[in-house]
Amino acid sequence: MTASVPVAEFEEALERGRRGEVDLPTAETLLRGARRADRAAELYSAASEVRDRRLGRRLLLTAHIHMVTDCAVDPPCKYCSLSSSIASVERERTPLKGREVIRRVVAATERGVDGIVLVGGTHLDGSDDELRTLLPKVRDATSADLALDIGPSLSESTLEWLKEFGVESVYCSIETINERAFSAAKPGDGYAARLEFMDRVDRLGLPLGNIVMNGLGSPTDLLRSILHSRRYRHLAHLHISTFHPVPGTPWAHRRPGSPATSLAALAIARFAFPDLQLGLAEVGIEDPGGMRRGPNQLAAGGGNTLAGLLIYKYTRIDLLDSLRRRAAELGFTTA
Ligand code: SF4
Repeated sequence: MTASVPVAEFEEALERGRRGEVDLPTAETLLRGARRADRAAELYSAASEVRDRRLGRRLLLTAHIHMVTDCAVDPPCKYCSLSSSIASVERERTPLKGREVIRRVVAATERGVDGIVLVGGTHLDGSDDELRTLLPKVRDATSADLALDIGPSLSESTLEWLKEFGVESVYCSIETINERAFSAAKPGDGYAARLEFMDRVDRLGLPLGNIVMNGLGSPTDLLRSILHSRRYRHLAHLHISTFHPVPGTPWAHRRPGSPATSLAALAIARFAFPDLQLGLAEVGIEDPGGMRRGPNQLAAGGGNTLAGLLIYKYTRIDLLDSLRRRAAELGFTTA
């Protein structure tokens, strides 16, 4: 994408965005234009207006519990802590035993979260048995909404079972729709398997969650990945993560993704998906600063769900109280 955008071109793109007419050239114009602070502010304000009109200012706060299943991706993704040669970094994604998951679910429920996301690794051969054993125990421990984020690791019959069970959503992150960039970052993962799984979730009518990563491929790839999500009729969540280099990983020295680009992409996504739960996906253990940037997304049209509590095997990041305070300052209500 080239550098500057004439003012009339930016304003026209903004108008199209407000009307929900977001094709790739419009999205690119908005992203380029938002490099200037005054236009970024205009973009955020327009996206927030769309959010407020369609969803209001009620904020749901979620807890994310890592890792409820281990990860069999080999080699592990180049940006993930699991690929770190530093033991103290790698061990943060140590899988939890069943009773450890339940203890954390109870603790999250006591903190008053609205929803709990159970996050695990990817098994292209399936994690059906573990999930079918774990989930009823989790349900007994909490009345909060439950979502799953364990990659394309479930069979069609388990997805049907999950629908009956009443999970709030099933995530599967494509990260980037650029297959070459996907394979460079995730050489052991399955691009086609993820797309097929997402299609299956959608076909079964289960609410789908998708995460795309700023920092894999080009800014245009990021926009294409966001707009590609329009193919899913049952898309319920779309999150944008920002690549952050993790010590000891093969990508430890790669340039981080720009938080400003993530925020602008989020605002553009709001135009394309006015009714969706949209936000920044923060991986607190890999990028602790990212969690603190969370409230910024509310001013950029994000929401209405925000991760406030991340619980790992050895670490717990709890920003619920500060998020509740900040949300109240911005006119949001929380539970
Ligand atoms: S699939 Fe997820 S948990 Fe597994 S290596 Fe990749 S990023 Fe890490």
